[in-house]
Amino acid sequence: MPFTLPELPYPHDWLEPYIGRETMELHHGKHHQAYVTNLNNLTAGTDLENKPLEEVCRLTFGDPSKASIFNNAGQHWNHCLFWRVMKRGGGGKPGGELLKRIEHDFGSYEAFAEQFKTAAVTQFGSGWAWLSLDGDRLKVSKTPNGENPLVHGMRPILGIDVWEHAYYLDYRWRRPDYVAAFLNHLVNWEAVEEELHNALA
Ligand code: ZN
Repeated sequence: MPFTLPELPYPHDWLEPYIGRETMELHHGKHHQAYVTNLNNLTAGTDLENKPLEEVCRLTFGDPSKASIFNNAGQHWNHCLFWRVMKRGGGGKPGGELLKRIEHDFGSYEAFAEQFKTAAVTQFGSGWAWLSLDGDRLKVSKTPNGENPLVHGMRPILGIDVWEHAYYLDYRWRRPDYVAAFLNHLVNWEAVEEELHNALA
């Protein structure tokens, strides 16, 4: 099987009280696992099965006959980033080069946070909000379902899952509270800075 579920970088209860153990067990062990299983089943025996995940996303995006492959490949990539960019005791304002770039491109951290929150809260239905490198500028965007900024030529360095499976057990209908908790308590800015450096390399 070419595509595999990555281990979580922390225990299931590590992000409590902001994301509960049950959410993490289902989200990682059931939802993410299902995307990986589906992707393996859908690509088995095709020329996509041994391609890098990002290439599978780009090659299948926008092709109606490959929509199922794209949805599962996109969701696999999106969740891999999502687990990496959270940690216990995270959130708040970043530092280093990332903060400098955020201040340069958005005016201030607060202005960035406002744009990111708005994108996450206003994504109608399932989807994601992102911070990406677009050329040499940081940009906030949102995408529906399994879509991501990769397929629009950008490099995502932070993403929040706003599918209901990501927050409904902990926050019910209160998506804004989940998004606020993510920014204030969960973002692993060191990991985001690492993503930024990889994107610039
Ligand atoms: Zn999810």
